[in-house]
Amino acid sequence: MNYVSTRDITGEKLTASQAIVKGLAPDGGLYVPCDFPQLHNYIGNSYEETALNVLKLYLTDFTEAELKEYIALAYSEFLPIKICNEYVELFHGRTAAFKDMALQLFPYLLTASLRKNNVNKTAVILTATSGDTGSAVISGMADVPNTRAVVFYPEGGVSDIQKLQMSTQAGENIKVFAIRGNFDDAQTAVKEVFEDRQFQSNFDDYIFTSANSINLARLLPQIVYYFYSYSEWVKLGKIKEGEVVNYVVPTGNFGNILAGYYAKKMGLPVNKLLCATNSNNVLYDFIKTGTYDKNREFALTLSPSMDILISSNLERFVYDLVGCEAVNEAYASLKNTGVFSITKPMSMLDTEMVSDEETLQGIKKIYDSDAYILDPHTAVGQVAYEKYKNRTGDNTPTMIMSTASPYKFPDAVKSALGNVLNNPPKSISLLNGKPVLHKDVIDIQNIREAIGDFL
Ligand SMILES: *Cc1c(COP(=O)(O)O)cnc(C)c1O
Repeated sequence: MNYVSTRDITGEKLTASQAIVKGLAPDGGLYVPCDFPQLHNYIGNSYEETALNVLKLYLTDFTEAELKEYIALAYSEFLPIKICNEYVELFHGRTAAFKDMALQLFPYLLTASLRKNNVNKTAVILTATSGDTGSAVISGMADVPNTRAVVFYPEGGVSDIQKLQMSTQAGENIKVFAIRGNFDDAQTAVKEVFEDRQFQSNFDDYIFTSANSINLARLLPQIVYYFYSYSEWVKLGKIKEGEVVNYVVPTGNFGNILAGYYAKKMGLPVNKLLCATNSNNVLYDFIKTGTYDKNREFALTLSPSMDILISSNLERFVYDLVGCEAVNEAYASLKNTGVFSITKPMSMLDTEMVSDEETLQGIKKIYDSDAYILDPHTAVGQVAYEKYKNRTGDNTPTMIMSTASPYKFPDAVKSALGNVLNNPPKSISLLNGKPVLHKDVIDIQNIREAIGDFL
């Protein structure tokens, strides 16, 4: 399988490992597979078997033995997915949010990709985070050989649990800094370091890269749980093999839902993917009208991991609809005016938007009827699904991607339900006894110094 950049008119082809090493293409595009292989016989397999069967179709310059080893290292310590009625719980990993599903595998795919391309350097992952990504990156990378991870989060800008998850993370190769500033300041500063060749040339033994969701090695592992959840529903007798289903996906950067779209292209019988957004409704408007317009107020909501106005993975979807030339036009327009439009219908998608008030009502409603506690992101998905069903009357069996444990966002749950969170998962209850290892708070202009001292 080869990969091309969404913006490369010449269509230069890369191997999987080359695309993983590069992360973002030099022309600013994202790497996409040249075609979509079909996956057969996925019913009844374990999670690890499904992961191997999906990944070996895409990572064709990895051996099966390599993939098996990395999948075992990433997933064998926990049951990756639990299905609870219509909820596909993707939050049983180390940091209790769905990003663990990809980030526990990512470091192995990255270091193997470096080896395959004879890059004999230590990978330094720099990450600016508003919470979930940073904690998932460092817990996935702790003590992985030939890697270092440095995370920057805004002081006072993450939840108590997210802060604890990051500041207590052990691992010789891990460093965490709080910065005086907001998330955008951190993000901008990290981007500048990535572009600062002069600075990087001081560190010959290192290669600087990023673990954000534009990297193929984060996207591909997410395809797995669509096939696996479908198979589990067949096993549970909720659907018959071959029957179509819908998936509801609480969406921010469009990474999770894009993996569902790829699964559909690989033959999974999916009817609709419902893109659930909070009041940062840039994707809602796009799916309804074909116009993407980022010129709008940014809102802080109860589902912070979906607070986003530039959905970077959307570019891969747009590429699939309209092709390379139109992507170049669209993204030049986005850069110049903050707006682009496409006219292709998006019939495989639908969308609903959910306010904070509706999110809290959704948490309460499901608790009252089923004694099941939703986190605010999953609640956005739940309410979006109810709205969709009322509007369309679509009775297709539907699964809801459950992206975080309610224990990771206790404040929202508390305002909906009061004190009901009495049985935290180990990954969260153990945090309180852990020593705080990372206490540094730095000014944003000192981040080069901070990185240099650590390396
Ligand atoms: C990151 C995240 C999302 C959004 O996923 P995307 O792939 O960015 O669309 C939703 N819920 C939670 C809990 C997350 O951490």
